[in-house]
Amino acid sequence: MKYLEEFNDPDLAKRLLDDIHATVSQPWAIMEVCGGQTHSIIRHGIDQLIPDQIEMIHGPGCPVCVTPLELIDKALEIASRPEVTFCSFGDMLRVPGSGRDLFRIKSQGGDVRVVYSPLDALKIARENPDRQVVFFGIGFETTAPPNAMTVYQAARLGVENFSMLVSHVRVPPAIEAIMQSPTCRVQAFLAAGHVCSVMGTAEYPELVERFSVPIVVTGFEPLDILEGIRRTVHQLERGEARLENAYPRAAPDAGNPAARTLLQDVFEVTDRGWRGIGTIPDSGWRLAPKYRAYDAEYRFQVGDIRTAESTVCRSGEVLQGFIKPHECSAFGTVCTPRNPLGATMVSSEGACAAYYLYRRLDAGQPAGQPEPVADRQEVAARG
Ligand code: SF4
Repeated sequence: MKYLEEFNDPDLAKRLLDDIHATVSQPWAIMEVCGGQTHSIIRHGIDQLIPDQIEMIHGPGCPVCVTPLELIDKALEIASRPEVTFCSFGDMLRVPGSGRDLFRIKSQGGDVRVVYSPLDALKIARENPDRQVVFFGIGFETTAPPNAMTVYQAARLGVENFSMLVSHVRVPPAIEAIMQSPTCRVQAFLAAGHVCSVMGTAEYPELVERFSVPIVVTGFEPLDILEGIRRTVHQLERGEARLENAYPRAAPDAGNPAARTLLQDVFEVTDRGWRGIGTIPDSGWRLAPKYRAYDAEYRFQVGDIRTAESTVCRSGEVLQGFIKPHECSAFGTVCTPRNPLGATMVSSEGACAAYYLYRRLDAGQPAGQPEPVADRQEVAARG
């Protein structure tokens, strides 16, 4: 398949690996920002093929994982109202709030629906004028343009029974927060190529210069990842810090100007809480004042909901690269994809789910046995 098979070529992978092995002379810590890259690295065993001196730190670039518990609880409160049809991508349905999830609400009779596009939710709203239809709009810069387009269309068409619960996050402020952390170990970044396909690369030179940190815009196939690591290692070994784009086939340096124009119209920058990490200034988007009527948080008055994060789940430490998933005592025992304690075990892009899927035997988890089932509320209460 064009653009996939040629980026899985084993001979080219070996040449890239040989180059990396020949270049590395000392330990380096590299963070891949995106959860999709994490899954590619773990699935293909790339972290086991590169030299032992290179540590891949799995970054916070999984939108489901970083959505704060508080926001999940707001979604659950809205979804449980009888007049509401709550629409979401499927990966949010099993993300645990403080006591339940969207599946639980659906099983109890709530009108919770999985959609494949925010525009599907708008269509449901137009077809059901007697219902309040809400779309759960989360994600990084990648999912923001279609969400912005949907709100723009709702306003243009005058669809008053549609609203969006927005929790968008932005990558550059997260990189800034990671580099400013006193415990930061990251020496270089593989930036998320799909984010740059929207935003371009203009936000990164300032970060490269301020923190003297190499940033290489990287794709998601095995050769993309290896090429990103190869370029990063060459910079680190030479003592350089530059921005490089190793994913120009999908991420032109200019990004998508039309999408950014729409984003600037519909959203405004705001502080945003990141699950397990805390609030990062200017790290998110919310609806701009002229679209306030479409803000579900405002419409349903759930802004006062405050929730403390779980004391058992260590996903915040996972998301910042302080521990690997299997170093969490709950990993594979009381926390599994079937009974997740944290979003990093639920999401298809979550680091805990990736280690559970591909590495739990390495981590000493028993093979061939059913997943242990635990009541996560009971575990949370114990914590
Ligand atoms: S294994 Fe489960 S409890 Fe531990 S950090 Fe991951 S999601 Fe949280």
